[in-house]
Amino acid sequence: MNTVKDYFGCNVFDDREMKANLPANVYQSLKKTIDEGAALDVSVANYVAEAMKEWALKKGATHYTHWFQPLTGITAEKHDSFITPSPDGGVIMEFSGKELIKGEPDASSFPSGGIRATFEARGYTTWDPTSYAFIKGKTLCIPTAFCAYGGQALDKKTPLLRSMEALNIQALRILRLFGNDTAKRVTSSVGPEQEYFLVPKEMYDQRLDLRMSGRTLFGSKPPKGQEMDDHYFGIIKPRVQAYMDELNEELWKLGILAKTEHNEVAPSQHELAPIYTTTNVGTDHNQLTMEIMQKVALKHGLVCLLHEKPFAGVNGSGKHNNWSISTDEGQNLLSPGATPYENAQFLLFLCAVIKAVDDYQDLLRLSVATAGNDHRLGANEAPPAVISMFLGDELNAVLEAIEEDKPYEGAEKIQMKLGVDILPKFNRDTTDRNRTSPFAFTGNKFEFRMLGSSNSIACANIMLNSAVAESLKIYADRLEGASDFETALHEMIKKTIKEHKRIIFNGNGYDDAWIEEATKVRGLSNYRTTADCMPHLLDEKNVQMLTSHKVFTRQELESRTEIMLENYCKSVNIEATTMLQMAKTQIIPAIENYAGDVAKKAVTKKQLNSSIACSYEESLVSKLSSLADTAFVKVGELEQVVAGLADAKDIIEESAMIRDRVLPAMEALRAACDEAETMTEKSYWPFPTYSDLLFGV
Ligand code: ADP
Ligand code: MG
Repeated sequence: MNTVKDYFGCNVFDDREMKANLPANVYQSLKKTIDEGAALDVSVANYVAEAMKEWALKKGATHYTHWFQPLTGITAEKHDSFITPSPDGGVIMEFSGKELIKGEPDASSFPSGGIRATFEARGYTTWDPTSYAFIKGKTLCIPTAFCAYGGQALDKKTPLLRSMEALNIQALRILRLFGNDTAKRVTSSVGPEQEYFLVPKEMYDQRLDLRMSGRTLFGSKPPKGQEMDDHYFGIIKPRVQAYMDELNEELWKLGILAKTEHNEVAPSQHELAPIYTTTNVGTDHNQLTMEIMQKVALKHGLVCLLHEKPFAGVNGSGKHNNWSISTDEGQNLLSPGATPYENAQFLLFLCAVIKAVDDYQDLLRLSVATAGNDHRLGANEAPPAVISMFLGDELNAVLEAIEEDKPYEGAEKIQMKLGVDILPKFNRDTTDRNRTSPFAFTGNKFEFRMLGSSNSIACANIMLNSAVAESLKIYADRLEGASDFETALHEMIKKTIKEHKRIIFNGNGYDDAWIEEATKVRGLSNYRTTADCMPHLLDEKNVQMLTSHKVFTRQELESRTEIMLENYCKSVNIEATTMLQMAKTQIIPAIENYAGDVAKKAVTKKQLNSSIACSYEESLVSKLSSLADTAFVKVGELEQVVAGLADAKDIIEESAMIRDRVLPAMEALRAACDEAETMTEKSYWPFPTYSDLLFGV
């Protein structure tokens, strides 16, 4: 094992292993399931289980687990060993098709948002053959979907697979209309760019806030942040490089296509991007990537922070979800084509996305909503909480030409008659310039930039796939019944542009004037917080759309709203409690110690010579004492609002109290403490500061 080529995917039961270890007919049948979504023949499972087990044993595995993604946002696994007692007192290693296909973990310790209460506590996991099994440590991990006993989804994979199916069904209808009779499947693909921070482990350990909530709850800004722009794409430090090298190696062994790594804008912030793959596998891989990033960091004496805003006032971490749709024949449906017909098809898919993003702004916004991401969206460097789309000037001009039946004035004048004219060739560079747009067309894919760094990408892709499936369904219904296909197509594209152009914005998304225009003039929604947007999951239009495509049932949507709001309240509650403890037992005592020592020095000086003024000491002590008093008052206020949460009549009210009372009270306490930090001698400060953390690696 020396070159990457030799060890890439060595811990994955991938196509190469399947082909080598399964009888030809079994392999074919499994392939059909994986590639075309065909139902899995049960007899196949026994063969696969046996081959998988033999392969895993050779790799030193002793256990297997159904690996799944409950609504906690992280992955879960319960390990079972392969051993079965044999009559002679020894053991044999067994693993049946039944065990491969189905598991029955206790669902009661995972969030179910009320579904559990009315059904059995038991849940079950079912094998997802479209995502390869892999080995982690000594365990064979089998990617699975996780449902309640009544079949309700309790995880993120189930609705993601359903949304991919919905998109497949509707996109195929469109392709048939364009005369494509050969494509068997349409899938969405994703390449998520993952941002993160690295901080020294020994400093992390000294901060209760980082350990409890993943972000700093106190800390005055360092004298130098990202102002100098000298970290972005800068030289990678040897310690960080060693980390990245090992991380890459671990990811490659798991068949994860880690491709690009670079420093990000903030000090000690970095990014890792994989090569894109199907949404389902991309989501599994991103979950694994986040897990391994954290694990490998520890081996290097570092902690990998995946929080969206680990440091106030410093660039936050997001995840760019690069998304496209393509056929099993390799045609990217978001890529402008070479012939008039391909072009018309491209424009139709483009319009489907435009319509989807406009009609379901709220779903996209809430798919990325967490307490952590609320600190990022709308802050300076991140996309605003308002959703808009960037298409680039050229494509925009094409759409305008179609809308107004006038020639497109590019390098040459082209009349935009669909199905007749070819699109001008776009220069990729001109479509990828705007970094401030939440949803940007980048030549042959869309980049959705609102995801938080710790978010599972499942939710965003569920909403994206479903909303686009809905646009395509409306288009297919209309076009299948049209007497003149080309005229109907042209009219429909025009109609989409007219009705939905308000969502297209090519300017600076960070500009306050834009937010004003977006909300006041264009009527776009601006949900600033999780508490604001999450309840809209249950808006009737959203329930209608998501249930009609069988992505969710109404009950699943109700339970998810509950769980997401619960997560929001719990996260902030933990932060508030942590702040109280830090303020009371660390920060206020530190201020007092320092102020006390300064006062003592003044007394000593006065004893020496009563005419010494000591105005420095006096002013410092009075300022520090007043800040300690303020902090003490703010502690009391925060305690009161936290206690008040108990009176909330439901989770919606509780989340509003968190937004309106708890978060502002936390800010006020922090302000007093942060100011005191700037005038307290460093050795008195009870934990590492922003400068220590950000420049410590
Ligand atoms: P950058 O954004 O840094 O210019 P790229 O746009 O080339 O880099 O790629 C960023 C991410 O987008 C990568 O993860 C890449 O694999 C992914 N990507 C590229 N093409 C597609 C596509 N057609 N569909 C989905 N993701 C894609
Ligand atoms: Mg990109």
